[in-house]
Amino acid sequence: MAVSLMMLCAVSALRLPVGRSAPASMVTAPPSSKAETIAAFDEAVMGTYGRFQLVVSHGEGCHLWDTDGKRYLDFAAGISTCCLGHADPRLVSAVEAQMRRVHHVSNLYYIPEQGELARRLVASSCADRAFFCNSGAEANEAAIKLARKHAATRLGASEPVIITALNSFHGRTLATITATGQPKYQQDFGPLVPGFEYVPYNDVDALAEAVRKIGANPFKPGRKLAAILLEPLQGEGGITPATKAFFEAARKLCDETGALLMADEVQTGMGRSGRMWGYMHHGVDVDVLTTAKALGGGVPIGAMLCKESCNVFGPGDHASTYGGNPLACAAGNAVMDAFDNDDLLQRVQERGAQLRAGLEALAASSGCIKEVRGWGLIMGAELTEECGFVAADVVGRLMEAGMLTVPAGQRVVRFVPPLVVSEAEVDEALALLGDAFGALQAP
Ligand code: PLP
Repeated sequence: MAVSLMMLCAVSALRLPVGRSAPASMVTAPPSSKAETIAAFDEAVMGTYGRFQLVVSHGEGCHLWDTDGKRYLDFAAGISTCCLGHADPRLVSAVEAQMRRVHHVSNLYYIPEQGELARRLVASSCADRAFFCNSGAEANEAAIKLARKHAATRLGASEPVIITALNSFHGRTLATITATGQPKYQQDFGPLVPGFEYVPYNDVDALAEAVRKIGANPFKPGRKLAAILLEPLQGEGGITPATKAFFEAARKLCDETGALLMADEVQTGMGRSGRMWGYMHHGVDVDVLTTAKALGGGVPIGAMLCKESCNVFGPGDHASTYGGNPLACAAGNAVMDAFDNDDLLQRVQERGAQLRAGLEALAASSGCIKEVRGWGLIMGAELTEECGFVAADVVGRLMEAGMLTVPAGQRVVRFVPPLVVSEAEVDEALALLGDAFGALQAP
């Protein structure tokens, strides 16, 4: 089920939570009641999402409240996005201050906040350059264009091919649904973008064979491998980490052919895995990485980062009106401040270990969990077939009990809380999950 929660922007004006005070300038009543909001959606919003009957009022830390005043422990975080939780004071004040100073100017001019964020991102990764956009799909579009221009200008490719993995997810634009190795996202949207091939994730032999075949046709000398694009851990595809051997093989094949190894870090990036970037788990540097989601802590921003050696973009090659504007970059810098000052990576590792241990204990005691997978605070519990229910049942039951999670496919319940989640909140989540299993198993 496609899950979409209306996540709260730090500058949104929202109703006061019960028993909590806030400056009057920051908080006003929500625009309409639950019934009015749902009616407005029924009347005027395109039905592209399957939505739960939950109308969000406001949030604080790892909690959201609905318009009826019910509180939810948020282990969805806007699908792996609100890394600092909701209404984080530093994010609020950074965005508020930037809004008062200047919030948008064109990329025809220099933007100090963008320069600062670019410096911090390249310092945190193996990349040397950043291009800013607004979402994960756009970051991947930029990477796909870069790979094609690199292949055309450096490798002499007239028919560039990008290899991605089956069961991957790279976004919803035409090129990124084509990159996504799941036919359900492509159905009825053809003709798709040419130049993509797919291999089973973590299948080293299949990857090597696909690369060999691309260069093997003597009648098509311009058909060349441009890039291998991989998630370091498949998120939407079921919280499946890549093996080190798979990333090492991809690196070697790219080195041999001159193609680019590109990591889609839209879901794994910015510390969620317990390291700043997911590719770091494999000990293999990439040429290009893409990020969005946590980069602005919920304020829309994306980025494509690349090594100088493959930086083939010049003026006019790519652009975005909003990309890297002062407001979005102020949010990005506030997120980076939290990494610099709060020991966030250490916290993610500790809370991730706690979550994993708790899920493994539940697997042993409940018989409902077949496997616990993931890194840091991107964790999935694959349900057993024998348990008789699917991930959406667990997500629905948890929501009734006051906790938000997201399915990752039919059988995997995904846990992606804010990176600032506390020990007590992880314990509470595990207790609620145990109760949900009990309730779903009850005759
Ligand atoms: N890439 C990955 C790995 C993702 O998980 C997602 C979204 O879930 C995207 C790309 C697309 O990001 P966006 O929805 O911001 O376009």
